[in-house]
Formats: sequence, structure tokens, C-alpha cells
Amino acid sequence: MEVIASEAITSPPQVSPDWVRLSGASAMALRLASGRFSRDFDFGGINLLLNYDEGCLSDCAYCGLARTRPGHYEEKSFIRVDWPLVETDVLAERMAEHKDSLTRLCISMVTHARAFKDTVDITERVARKVDTPMSILVAPPTLNYDRLKTFREVGVDMIGIGLDAVTEELFRQKRTDVPNGGLKWDNYWNVVEWSRQLFGPWKVNCHTLVGLGETDYDMAQMFFRLKSMEVFSYLFNFNPEPDSRMGHQPVAPLTRWRRIQLMKTLIEEYDLAADRLTFDDAGALCGLRADSPQLDHMIRRVAAQGTAFMTDGCPSSGGEPGCTRPYGSYKPSDPYRDYPFQPDVDDLAAIRGELRLDELLRA
Ligand code: SF4
Repeated sequence: MEVIASEAITSPPQVSPDWVRLSGASAMALRLASGRFSRDFDFGGINLLLNYDEGCLSDCAYCGLARTRPGHYEEKSFIRVDWPLVETDVLAERMAEHKDSLTRLCISMVTHARAFKDTVDITERVARKVDTPMSILVAPPTLNYDRLKTFREVGVDMIGIGLDAVTEELFRQKRTDVPNGGLKWDNYWNVVEWSRQLFGPWKVNCHTLVGLGETDYDMAQMFFRLKSMEVFSYLFNFNPEPDSRMGHQPVAPLTRWRRIQLMKTLIEEYDLAADRLTFDDAGALCGLRADSPQLDHMIRRVAAQGTAFMTDGCPSSGGEPGCTRPYGSYKPSDPYRDYPFQPDVDDLAAIRGELRLDELLRA
């Protein structure tokens, strides 16, 4: 992607709320950057990130913005993509110009003392110009019940919580007991519960990351827990950020990733019961017990449709995928881990080969 030099995007860092970073794909959607995707598809999800000289005060082992990752904050990538800087008011104007093609706006907070106040400010500036549905990907250490309520009052309709690690132990290893960590598992769950109370069923999501060291069994447990709360689980694929402390950890094998995508959809949308899943001693999913023709048919149909393998994200106002984050979970040169569009016939053939569903159904 080539970023156009313009008054809207500059290289010296400026800080929120007057300045904000936006994902490279969002900059392309708003014609603030040139470039194109390798495939043609509509894209209208705008992802923003707060910007401070001090950066994010958390230090998660896998994150591109981690405090102890080498490099200046303004040069750091986040989910492996560049986030050019834009003036907030210019951004709001651009969004107004392109409002018909926009599907969702999301502001990613960072852990910083000013993050709450500035997020409200930016949300209000954008809401004055467009009525695009708005999400906040929250930084729990900066929040409490009343602050979440304020988000609702200024027009936010969905809350995302970047839980990432699906077990308490993993959360502690990667996010708490790290050089400048200190994030608290209980604090994250308080924010999930408060958000659920304030925003309602299926208006809250937890980002769940595959590849941090969890088992498939751990993932399944989390999917059941969130479903019981009517909270979405949105799947992300761990993709190592160079120079981060997990920069050399391999990504999850594609077959594992596809099976987790399918398992999540079957649990979340099709009420698959826990006793239909079998795991080996290491916690890897090794079978789907479909002991009726109807269940076998349903599982095969869901796998064949392809929507289970599309990007998980907050919806547009019409319920279609609204936040599709192209290349958010994989390199542009890699096969699509999640598809920001409906997979076509060739994609479905590739997914079939990767998923190896017959092995699961036979086991
Ligand atoms: S899915 Fe997208 S819009 Fe929703 S909270 Fe996550 S990053 Fe934001």
C-alpha cells in the first residue's frame, strides 16, 4: 500500500483526540491512501487507533504496540499493518463524503490515562457527521461501569473486549506477568459483564486469539462460556509481530484454524452440544460425533456454505459483516485465514482441503 502524501496524513506523530491512527485498509477505503487488494471486494469498515507519544502502557507479549517491543511507538505496527496518522476532523469529513459505502466504525483504545476522555471526544466528532454504526474496542484498565454507560450515551452500539487469551493462565503469562504488564483477568471479565448489562444480548464481543498456546479444548470452553452470556466470540489468528517477544512463535496450522472456525460457528449459531466434540489427550479436536444423519448433514452444510470461514466482526446496520479487517490475521502473501467476502467456488475447494472434515466426522 502506498500512502499518499497529503495534508491529511503526516509523518510526525500528533496525539489524540485531535489526531488518530487508522488502518491502512481504512485509509484506502476513505481515499486517504492509494493501493488495492489482490481481490476485488467491497470494504467499508473503518478501524481507528488512539495515538499518544507514550504509546500503549500495556506490554502484551504478542502485541505490536507492546511497551518493550523495540522501536518508537509511531513506527510500530499493530496486527502487522501500518496505521497512518490522520487529523480527526479531516477523518470525520472524509467519512461523511464516503458515508454510503461505510459499514462500521471502530475506535481501538490503548491503555493510557487519557484514553477514555479522548475516545468519547472522537466518537462525538464522528457521530456529528455520520450515522455509521460505532464500536469501541475497549481498554478495560481505563474503564468502569459509568464510563461504559457514557459510550452508550454518545451512540456506541457495540463493545469489543480484546481478551485474546482464552484461559486465565495464558492471560497471566502473556499479559500480566510480563515486564510492564499488570492487566487483570478479573478486570476484563468485569468489563464483559458490565458491557453485556448495558448494551444487551449479542452487542458485546470478545476477541479470542488462536495460537497463543491454548488447546482446542480451551477454545471450545470459551465459546460455550461466551455463548451462555449471549456474547460473541470473534476469532483472530495469532500472527507474530517481528521483534515482539512472541515474534518467533509459529502460527496455528491452517487445518487447526479451519476446524476452530467451524467448531465456533457450530457452537455459537447451531447449538452444537459439548458432548458432540471429542478431544485427544493433548486437547486437540479430533472428532465431531454426528450420530444422526440430520446432524451429519447439518455439519457438512455449514462447512460447505463458507460463511464460517469469513472474518468475524461487528455487523453493519443491515446485519452483514461490517468490520472485515483485510489481512488483520495473516500476511497478504498467505492464504486467507478469514475471508473479508463470501468465499467463491475456488475458495470453498481450498477450504475443503484444509478442513479435512471427513476425518473429523469419521473419528
Ligand atoms: S470486531 Fe471489529 S468493530 Fe468489532 S470490536 Fe473488534 S475490531 Fe472493533
